[in-house]
Amino acid sequence: MNETTIATRTELLAAGWTARSITEAVRSGAIVRLRNGVYASAGCDPSVALAVRVGGVLGCASALTALGVWTQSRGPVHVQLDGRASRIRRAPHGTVLHWHTAPLPGTRVAAHPIDALADACHCLPFEFAVASIDSALNLGLISRTDLEVLSAALPRRLRRIVARADGRCMSGTETILRLALEDAGIAFVPQVRIPGVGTVDFVVAGRIVIEVDSHAWHDSDEATSRDYDRDLAAARAGYIVLRLRYEHVMFQLDASMAAVRSLVALVQNS
Ligand SMILES: [Zn+2]
Repeated sequence: MNETTIATRTELLAAGWTARSITEAVRSGAIVRLRNGVYASAGCDPSVALAVRVGGVLGCASALTALGVWTQSRGPVHVQLDGRASRIRRAPHGTVLHWHTAPLPGTRVAAHPIDALADACHCLPFEFAVASIDSALNLGLISRTDLEVLSAALPRRLRRIVARADGRCMSGTETILRLALEDAGIAFVPQVRIPGVGTVDFVVAGRIVIEVDSHAWHDSDEATSRDYDRDLAAARAGYIVLRLRYEHVMFQLDASMAAVRSLVALVQNS
């Protein structure tokens, strides 16, 4: 079994294991018994182990993280539970439980992306939920048609989250900036290809390039050097470049938007 594989006792026996070899593997730590008749390899992700122990799978933000969708990954483990299941075990304090009476088919590890996104719309702040939907669209995990299914699964007050999704943004920080630009009524185009520069995250007011770092960690020297080259090329092509770090978007959005407004005013008055 690899790191994320969950197997039942019946499946192990069908695959050639014996009752004795299973017992020995559990004793030696090669596999872990998560609950009665359900096993995982010793390297099993702790969040997955928790979800399966409780009797469910990763749901909501935790499922999205497991599926590679952008989300704020820090926080409690979210577990999706099937309301029809007969045995649900006690969850550790702080675990967020999401009950579904008719869950869409996911994997043994994680909920279906549509179910996970529907729960995320309830659980996450507005911008983060939109960012997760954008990311799932961008990754091809859901289609535009699925947005209607997602919307129908939500109460009316939460459907505006889905309405604001736009699969063109490549990362969560781009989505968060996109929403702020839209709310401020500032005209922009995402993902613009500029000859000699490449594809930039946003062009605002026709002359301002905004690039947004998608991750909290610091870029390598090589990447930083490439960014300088791109900024130089964009300036040569007549653009003003504003480069925002992950922290600028996530934690200093008001100050970042004030900078954008100042640049827009500068461009419009020149
Ligand atoms: Zn949740």
